[in-house]
Amino acid sequence: MQKKIKIVETLLDALPFIREFYGKTIVIKYGGAAQIDERLKESFAIDITMLYMVGIKPVIVHGGGKRITEILNALNVKTEFRDGVRVTTKESIKIAEMVLSGEINKEIVNMLNQHGAKAIGINGKDMSFMKAKSLIGYTGEITSVNGVFLNKLLLENLIPVIAPIAAGESPTHPGYNINADTAASEIASSIGAKRVIFLTDTPGVLDKNKKLLSSLTKKEIDNLKADGTIAGGMIPKVDAALRAVEKGVEKAHIIDGRVEHSILLELLTSEGIGTEIKN
Ligand code: ADP
Ligand code: MG
Repeated sequence: MQKKIKIVETLLDALPFIREFYGKTIVIKYGGAAQIDERLKESFAIDITMLYMVGIKPVIVHGGGKRITEILNALNVKTEFRDGVRVTTKESIKIAEMVLSGEINKEIVNMLNQHGAKAIGINGKDMSFMKAKSLIGYTGEITSVNGVFLNKLLLENLIPVIAPIAAGESPTHPGYNINADTAASEIASSIGAKRVIFLTDTPGVLDKNKKLLSSLTKKEIDNLKADGTIAGGMIPKVDAALRAVEKGVEKAHIIDGRVEHSILLELLTSEGIGTEIKN
């Protein structure tokens, strides 16, 4: 009996949070260890299914950096990063799309559907819902996201699982590889999402002494970037977080994807984890 009461109490503890997020859209950037480790993959799929089953609307935008690098290396294609963003070439864009839209996207979609959610995998070429122009080579800068289309999927009770490839400017253009953080941010603002969450392999944004910064403003981020505390892949992530909140998303979170059930911990309990960024 004691144990059953405990279960009910746990459920009731989540009620205020479920009420806050019911019917609302949450964009989740899925990346890092959570995308590789089998236990974390399972915990991610359960978290998303749980959100879905209680009436919250998740949208997944996934990365695939490590796997793309692995395949490019196996094929002897060179790859480099500038300011944390991959420089995509004519050779690597096709491979990036194969890995992202073929292998990774379908794995996530299948995992969610096997758990009882209704997920559908797309990239920017579907309905041309996400278009881009060149930033460096075939790494693109998003020029438009069709939020109306994504909202239609959500109205149908589907979970869009989005590979960060955008349509190019002509029928023969192979398309653009987009940094997944940037894509998650633009997608979140285009659909009026309530929150955007970036799963990563650190506890959040860390200061010079590797201590977690639990909340950050634009000014603080500018200073941390200027003195080099925020570097590499964290640059596009904080930029994406800031842009999302500037364009109307209530809050952005950068959280530790290596922690099991980090998404439920962040959204359905009072224990905020990671770094929170507000406008
Ligand atoms: P993801 O797959 O989540 O996009 P990235 O490697 O692109 O991962 O970006 C996260 C990385 O950014 C961290 O693993 C860390 O190495 C680096 N980083 C740079 N500056 C910071 C910082 N101030 N706090 C935390 N991580 C940072
Ligand atoms: Mg990254």
